Amino acid sequence: MAECGDAYVRILKTVPGHVMLLAVSKHHAVEDIEDVYHAGCRNFGENKVQELSQKAEILPKDINWHFIGHLQSNKVKYIAPYVSLIHGVDSVKLLKVIDKEAKKNNRRIDVLLQVKIAEEDSKFGLTYENTLPIVKDSVPLLENIRLVGLMGMATNTADQVQIRDEFKKLNQLFNSVKDVVADKTSFSVLSMGMSRDYVIAIEEGSTLVRMGTSIFGARY
Ligand SMILES: *Cc1c(COP(=O)(O)O)cnc(C)c1O
Repeated sequence: MAECGDAYVRILKTVPGHVMLLAVSKHHAVEDIEDVYHAGCRNFGENKVQELSQKAEILPKDINWHFIGHLQSNKVKYIAPYVSLIHGVDSVKLLKVIDKEAKKNNRRIDVLLQVKIAEEDSKFGLTYENTLPIVKDSVPLLENIRLVGLMGMATNTADQVQIRDEFKKLNQLFNSVKDVVADKTSFSVLSMGMSRDYVIAIEEGSTLVRMGTSIFGARY
């Protein structure tokens, strides 16, 4: 559908230049991804390892693939050779596995720590309290990963004040983490905001918005 490429271009115009627009293509057809690709997009996000692997194999090689789902340790090896950024890291165990697989592939893998900012039980992620200790104690020992930022998802609510508040807190944590990371220049990604709340997220300091529905339409 040519509409996807048009939608991408339309949304891109509403996103400031310093913010990356990640097209979340999970559950969407290769033809639609190609359409958005031809509209100029090179960053796509998937949340299932198998689906990502299949799409990466057929689609153009200059796409940067982002993994945005809950990654299982035993599946890291399938995406380690090429993944561009892993957004959802929420345990030391997973950090260690990514580090090991990166080393096997002779590369360094960029990761974001996912922090649970929503009040719903269903959303995974580190707690505010756990994040700084992991950054201080575990990350420096892992030479094949590079911690480039944080990621979070706000509560699915109509309450804009609550959403803004959750994004604000994540931005504050982002600044506290930046104070303790060794490589401050690389620590620059604050991944927050999706189709329903990206405007608020950008106002609260997001540098990367993850947009599915508003580019590709509803998922089936
Ligand atoms: C699916 C998904 C998105 C995109 O959501 P939309 O509402 O379709 O924009 C963003 N982030 C994550 C982590 C997702 O799983």
